[in-house]
Amino acid sequence: MKSSGIKNGLIAGLKKKKDGSYSISIECPSGNVSTNVLRSVTSIAEKYGARVHLTTVQKIMLLDLNEKGGREAMRVLKKSGIPVKSKRTLSQAMVCVGKPYCPLGLQETMPLARYLYDQVSHLEIPPKLKMAISGCPACCSWANMVDVGFVGTRKGFKVLIGGHGGYKPVVGKLLGTVSSKHEIVEVVRKATGIFIAHTRKRGRMSDVIDKLGLDFFKKEIPLSMDKSVD
Ligand code: SF4
Repeated sequence: MKSSGIKNGLIAGLKKKKDGSYSISIECPSGNVSTNVLRSVTSIAEKYGARVHLTTVQKIMLLDLNEKGGREAMRVLKKSGIPVKSKRTLSQAMVCVGKPYCPLGLQETMPLARYLYDQVSHLEIPPKLKMAISGCPACCSWANMVDVGFVGTRKGFKVLIGGHGGYKPVVGKLLGTVSSKHEIVEVVRKATGIFIAHTRKRGRMSDVIDKLGLDFFKKEIPLSMDKSVD
């Protein structure tokens, strides 16, 4: 059955916070913000008194809304076609500026992040699965510390899985290397499928790797290995 987008009387995407205020999370695929988003956010902040917060995963959060203002803000955002996080779906990848903007960049990152978002952001997941793309092994966007990360090399990207931050941080494990955006989408689809099939409540990809072994992932997601990558 098609969802009405309304749960407990609230519009999906409009979240009630502990202090009774409401928030909205706007996705910014590829880490870029259009003038359309800027205009709408400015208008909502001025009209409904929202505090505009930039999150650690490159989203825009509108905070301190009351319910009426929140509903109005959702209407404005929807009318402008601005993507609001409203379901437990794959989130945008965190991304650095990459090539040609960073002098150390080995690969372009922002077009890839946009492509990946367009291809997989509809996939529903149990929380939580983070992705990131870095233009070189410096990993400024934490591609080595997320569930599925892509790290730029001279020939493509190395794929790291099972990383995460938190109280007991884990560095992602090398799964192989990829050289095209199509391979990257396939890696994300397959890794997400394994995660959904084998995760427990509140589990992360690293728990699934501990349970099944990295070789299971290498068998299910066969990738080449660029020998110049360590
Ligand atoms: S990860 Fe590399 S390419 Fe990206 S911002 Fe950092 S140094 Fe530059």
